[in-house]
Amino acid sequence: MIKPDGLSGNYKEKIKEAILGSGFDIIEEAVVHLDAERASLFYAEHADRSFFNSLVKYMTSGPVCAMVLESPDAISRWRNLIGPTDARKAKTSHPDSIRAMCGLDSEKNCVHGSDSPQSAAREISFFFRDDKSE
Ligand code: ATP
Repeated sequence: MIKPDGLSGNYKEKIKEAILGSGFDIIEEAVVHLDAERASLFYAEHADRSFFNSLVKYMTSGPVCAMVLESPDAISRWRNLIGPTDARKAKTSHPDSIRAMCGLDSEKNCVHGSDSPQSAAREISFFFRDDKSE
């Protein structure tokens, strides 16, 4: 997912170039504006964290672009391409990463990546399959 700062900073095309240039296929794509309820649901695992309210505010501050990426080993390859959570660290330890390119700090880090096959399945359903579930 490209987060609101990624879209408002006009990084969408650069991020897609990095995705395609790294050999991923983009098989689904949708721009949506999450409301507080949907953003809270998406990040429900962080509901007890001190930064949760701020995270929801950030994630509802503008539209996001959700994508389904396909490649061998997609989850670890994408996590590697985006770099560490804290974009300030990304700039020093992973200067070629997407978060180094467009992130700001540990919250405003411009992209998200599923961290397991289970979370990928949940997140794909969250954005693309809700109305097709049986
Ligand atoms: P994501 O799940 O978005 O790919 P991540 O797996 O690298 O990011 P998580 O620990 O799952 O990081 O945190 C989810 C999101 O919450 C982060 O991407 C960031 O936007 C925000 N976040 C994480 N840690 C902090 C923090 N210490 N302060 C503020 N926001 C944070």
